[in-house]
Amino acid sequence: MATTALPDQLSDEARDFISRDHGLLINGEWVPAADGATFDTVDPSNGQTIAEIAQGGAEDVDRAVKAARAAFADDSPWRTMTAPDRARLLVKLAELLEGSADQLAQIESLDNGKPVTLARVVDVNAAIGHLIEFSGWPTRIPGETHPDAVANTFGYTRREPVGVCGQIVPWNFPLLMAVWKIAPALAAGCTVVLKPAEQTPLTALRLGELALEAGIPPGVLNVVTGDGSTGQALVRHEDVNKIAFTGSTAVGREIGEVAGKALKRVTLELGGKSPNIVLPDADIEAAVTGAFSGIYFNSGQVCTAASRLMVQKDQFDDVVNALAAQAEATMPGPGLAPTTFVGPLVSAEQHERVSSYIEKGRDEAELVAGGGTSIESHPDGYFVKPTLFTSTDDNASIVREEIFGPVLVAQPYDSIEDVARRANEGSYGLAAGVWTKDLRNAHKLAGLLRAGSIYVNSWGTVSSSMPFGGFKASGVGREHGTAGIGAYLEEKSVFINMA
Ligand code: NDP
Repeated sequence: MATTALPDQLSDEARDFISRDHGLLINGEWVPAADGATFDTVDPSNGQTIAEIAQGGAEDVDRAVKAARAAFADDSPWRTMTAPDRARLLVKLAELLEGSADQLAQIESLDNGKPVTLARVVDVNAAIGHLIEFSGWPTRIPGETHPDAVANTFGYTRREPVGVCGQIVPWNFPLLMAVWKIAPALAAGCTVVLKPAEQTPLTALRLGELALEAGIPPGVLNVVTGDGSTGQALVRHEDVNKIAFTGSTAVGREIGEVAGKALKRVTLELGGKSPNIVLPDADIEAAVTGAFSGIYFNSGQVCTAASRLMVQKDQFDDVVNALAAQAEATMPGPGLAPTTFVGPLVSAEQHERVSSYIEKGRDEAELVAGGGTSIESHPDGYFVKPTLFTSTDDNASIVREEIFGPVLVAQPYDSIEDVARRANEGSYGLAAGVWTKDLRNAHKLAGLLRAGSIYVNSWGTVSSSMPFGGFKASGVGREHGTAGIGAYLEEKSVFINMA
């Protein structure tokens, strides 16, 4: 493995973890891939390898699923554990994350490229909060009683864990997405095979270590690193009861098809092209600040990124000029630098993909800020400068398609009715936003917009207790809250004949 020296900013704890051997977590043990294969994970600020990771294949997926199945056996420690004890384990895991929060933030920043301060205050804190939220569920999974549903029969329902879950997560919030998946599954009493993204495997591996330290029994949480073929093997494995996936709509469709044929339970959290609407009566300064962070936060690599800004035509120039000035003044930098707000994109592929959209944008729209796809200080890094286009063409590819980078397109509109219709025309429906001081218009648009999350005078708010997911091609099912736990439960009706 040709690794470069790790950056000086890393703590000893982060450095020690990154430098160790990284196997697969199967049945509570760290093991190499069956065929010994490995892959490299790189620092996106310079393209250099930072660690070598086991490349799980179909045989490893099978071993992990068998371990998860054994851990789900009726007489296993996990299945016979009381609900309060299951809750305690989730709390313990949250506490261990808290104890390793700075280390986790540094590892995430190096592996993904995101600013370390944001990794700490957003990703790691939200992961801890999510575990705490879901630690409240094991003791609160009630059923229903129906004493008189049928003559002389007492009916009741039980909600039981769905079984072995294959969970496939992306690279944009690696630790947080892993925790979003494992917390409800474990709270429900399921067992898990987790497949992190190949670009960012490190924090999921650390999460696996902490889960063992917390006392989560062997086989309950397995972590199999690898690439898309590893994910495919997991989706196709016949002994997996449920698949939970976050990632691209293209892969989501493929998974939905396989899961549909096999009648596996499936939840899909997919892409978006989310309209952010500024009404004429909005606090324009607040709207500009929200629009800026809504798209450029995490370098635009956010499924709910506010990537399509719609401003009433009379305010359009003012808003665009203010945003362009902020975008031009924001210089990307490596995630570990304390002042960075826009880090590099995660990978060479993503850099290529976003750069090609910027090229398309130059043809089909007007470039008003950014457009650069490298920075002088880090010529080998995957940097893209905050970019802003304007367009009046609703059919332009940069208006309709998910770019997943720091690229915003702003469009003028005439009226509320006009903007709602146009905002709903795309294939996605993950999020939408409204900036206004008029509550009537806020509620009106909240009703009209076809999206899973509506933000009024804010962008990107997420709560572990409120449903998260998409309309249309943005997904199937919801994570978080009551729906989120429900996605890991089967419902059973019991009829007691009392005649
Ligand atoms: P993918 O959808 O390919 O990857 C997401 C996860 O799925 C990764 O763990 C990946 O593994 C895995 N995977 C890939 N192919 C398969 C498969 N056939 N069966 C099962 N699992 C699979 O996203 P990309 O990383 O390729 O990103 C491409 C685009 O997807 C982005 O530009 C963005 O538009 C969108 N995206 C959306 C996200 C969201 O949050 N909605 C998150 C990430 C991407 P591996 O990475 O190892 O290949």
